[in-house]
Amino acid sequence: MTLTADLVIATSVAYVGLLFLVAFLADRHTRRRAGGFLRSPFVYTLSISVYCTSWTFYGAVGSAARTGLEFVTIYLGPTLVFIGWWFILRRLVHISHSQRITSIADLLSSRFGKSGVLGVLVTLLAVIAIAPYIALQLKAVTSSIEAIAGASEFGRGSLEGWDEGGLAFGVAAGMAAFTILFGTRNVDANEQHHGVVAAIALEAVVKLTALIAVGVFVIYAGGGLEGVFTGAAAAGIDIYDTDTFGDRWIASMLLAAAAIICLPRQFQVTVVENSDESHLRTASWAFPAYMLAMSLFILPIALYGLTIMPAGSNPDMFTLTLPLAAGQGGLALFAFIGGFSSATSMIILESIALSIMVSNHIVVPLMLRFGGEGHVGSDHGVRRLLLRARRVSIVLILFLGFGYFYLTRSSDALAPIGLISFTGVAQFLPAILAALFWRDASAKAAIAAISTGFLVWLWASFLPSFATSSPSVAAIMTEGPYGISWLRPQALFGLDMLDPLAHGVFWSLFANTTVLILGSLVTRQSALEHVQAALFIDMSGRSPSEPGSLHGSATTDDLLLVARRVLGQQRAFDLFSEEARQTGTAWTSLEPTPAFINRLERELAGSIGAASAHIMLSKVVSGGEVSLEEVMRMADETQQVIEHSQALERTSAQLRATAEKLEAANLQLREVDRQKDEFLSQVSHEVRTPMTAIRAFSEILLSERDLDESSVRSFVDTIHKESLRLTSLLDEILDVSALEKGDRVWEANLFDPERSLDQALRVCNALALHNGTTLQVTQRVDSAHVSGDADRLSQVLINLISNAIKYNNAPSPTVWIRSFIDGPHYCVEISDNGAGIPEAEQPRIFDKFYRGQRGRATAYAGAGLGLPISREILARMRGTLELVPSAAEGACFCMRLPLEMHARATG
Ligand code: ADP
Repeated sequence: MTLTADLVIATSVAYVGLLFLVAFLADRHTRRRAGGFLRSPFVYTLSISVYCTSWTFYGAVGSAARTGLEFVTIYLGPTLVFIGWWFILRRLVHISHSQRITSIADLLSSRFGKSGVLGVLVTLLAVIAIAPYIALQLKAVTSSIEAIAGASEFGRGSLEGWDEGGLAFGVAAGMAAFTILFGTRNVDANEQHHGVVAAIALEAVVKLTALIAVGVFVIYAGGGLEGVFTGAAAAGIDIYDTDTFGDRWIASMLLAAAAIICLPRQFQVTVVENSDESHLRTASWAFPAYMLAMSLFILPIALYGLTIMPAGSNPDMFTLTLPLAAGQGGLALFAFIGGFSSATSMIILESIALSIMVSNHIVVPLMLRFGGEGHVGSDHGVRRLLLRARRVSIVLILFLGFGYFYLTRSSDALAPIGLISFTGVAQFLPAILAALFWRDASAKAAIAAISTGFLVWLWASFLPSFATSSPSVAAIMTEGPYGISWLRPQALFGLDMLDPLAHGVFWSLFANTTVLILGSLVTRQSALEHVQAALFIDMSGRSPSEPGSLHGSATTDDLLLVARRVLGQQRAFDLFSEEARQTGTAWTSLEPTPAFINRLERELAGSIGAASAHIMLSKVVSGGEVSLEEVMRMADETQQVIEHSQALERTSAQLRATAEKLEAANLQLREVDRQKDEFLSQVSHEVRTPMTAIRAFSEILLSERDLDESSVRSFVDTIHKESLRLTSLLDEILDVSALEKGDRVWEANLFDPERSLDQALRVCNALALHNGTTLQVTQRVDSAHVSGDADRLSQVLINLISNAIKYNNAPSPTVWIRSFIDGPHYCVEISDNGAGIPEAEQPRIFDKFYRGQRGRATAYAGAGLGLPISREILARMRGTLELVPSAAEGACFCMRLPLEMHARATG
């Protein structure tokens, strides 16, 4: 079978005819609501495999022949997403369904406050980024026709009568015609195209079988799988010598993973054309399996091609030229149809997806702004205009692709062109992820981020692709613009050790993400953005009372008018009847409730995008878009006021807390002040008595000249006693204040408390003798160890024993002293047989300057500081002093000090 260009072209046309038929039948099928098979998860999965374009079909073999295993990354990326991160996809599909999202532009515009600017931006950038990709398909189709017709020259042949450009132009025109006929038959509610999807699924089967057929042929011709590899090795072919797992690998894997989410056509098939969310579960394994099957024979074909084809043949075309060289005309034709399938399915779906974006985000808003009532006024106006807009955009998009093809036709590898497109659409990824997961991402930041990413992409990835056809671009590449070397497209900021692809990916996504994050942190969301963000992140669907919702003065008739124009007579009536049935009201007395207006808005959004639907309805509902803006501004302001008052509340709460603290501190200060006053007045009172005595007696001595010797002596004696008392009083006062301030350095020695007791007994014996008091030591400890100051302990014991002697009025006064060990404590107990301390005084005897009944009745009583000083001293040594309730008469005091365990154990 000899293949001529005419035969090949005729076959292609016939194949397109078959697609046409399939699409037509499938459309009719679903229109009768009988599309059981068409709605199966497998058709869904097959339609997702529109990812495998002619780049995969031809280009992967070429890429394997040039750079070894790198082609695998293009499959690995999506596999990771489908298997590992399919919760992202699930969320994407779920949100898009509940919000009636029709495209990526719609998704981003809707999430970021129904922003029209974002919609336009994403649309324009998508169209620009996809142009190289469409060019790639055109290139693949033309090269394949050339290869097959000029078979003798193995892919380098030129076609008689058809020049390359003309051929590509013809293919582009044919594709435009098919897409217009099938992709824009109607403006569907959710932009689902069952006919087209069926045709795409068929193409998926065709391309897979064709590639496998060639693979099987290669294995057969090469003498088995092993034969192919050993043959290649024998011919000295080594394609593994590449930088596997280097920066380029990571970059292209990342790109492929991003592409499966960000490519407009993938969004179209995965999200928009999805009729049942559970299909995603099947696709999560079936799609990776499909890709695996697609990639199985790539390496053998590449190796075999390199082995047997003459040097210089185009490896991109091996799939085709290998069967041709073996004289297998039929197989070659089948392979051609397979490649043709991959190209056409991509072109058709991509241009449908892009045209929806162009019409919904550019044409309709323009029409709403400038078209006046002309189009909206006529019954079919909007629909007709939408369809026309889509048709025009399809033509536009395809010829943009053609333009790119024409300008870059001199570079010959397929894969790099695809990667340029991938890098372009990957710029949507940060914003999409933020839309799904980050509530605080703002529209301004998203717009800035995407624009920044794209500028970097244009410079670092897109521009260099013209280097082979434009000398001035080539000059910029080597020297930088105006000789600024750090602006060289492939070595920005002097970063020249990365592979050009990885370089572009790194800088564009880095700039993009940074701007998105920083921008979101510094900008504020508008009220509508806030609402939309909440809707997207909470996924709870719309609540009927969302602040961005419209309600106003519209009548049901107004709404019906709008609905009929956008949705068409039948669907509008269906919608209104449904609403009437649900609310149980008559069709004529339907109320335009907020819930109903919302529902209508969502339905309209399914056809013309969220932003346009919102503007259109707001025009009807409130009689002009100005008032919508007013509402939004009011909402914004209200929010600002709320935030402001929240901030004020926070500040005043802080102030209150501070004031409370100040008040407490003030109270404390006042208490201290009061105590100080009391202390001072007590001290002056105490000092006054002896001072008065001293002064009185010395005055007598000074004025009375003729006093007898004994009187003088007794006066001087009193003065001496009182000054002694004064000195000891002042000593005690100084002691108290020093103890209370705690600024005296304390000795902390290990000592035997028994020695302190000995010393105290020695001092007190004299006093006891003087008073006629018996001191009885009833129990002693041999020795013990405590830590602290031995002299201070003596002071305490002297005070306690002398108190017991001083305040004892019994006829035969006795004081009992015993020391003992009680658990971990060393204790000394001092009791007497005096009058004891009355119950009413007991709680106060440790207060400073407190003197009890006995204290006042006794001639040589102290200032009431002895007990508080003793207690303070013991506390410093971690001990205690207590008045022990005793059954017998008299008072009993007990002091305790912790024993030093270590010292006790060692002796
Ligand atoms: P001072 O230094 O004046 O002796 P203290 O603080 O030591 O004051 O004692 C306070 C009061 O406790 C004394 O005025 C006395 O009334 C009472 N008091 C202390 N020890 C005894 C005791 N053994 N028997 C009776 N009363 C005592």
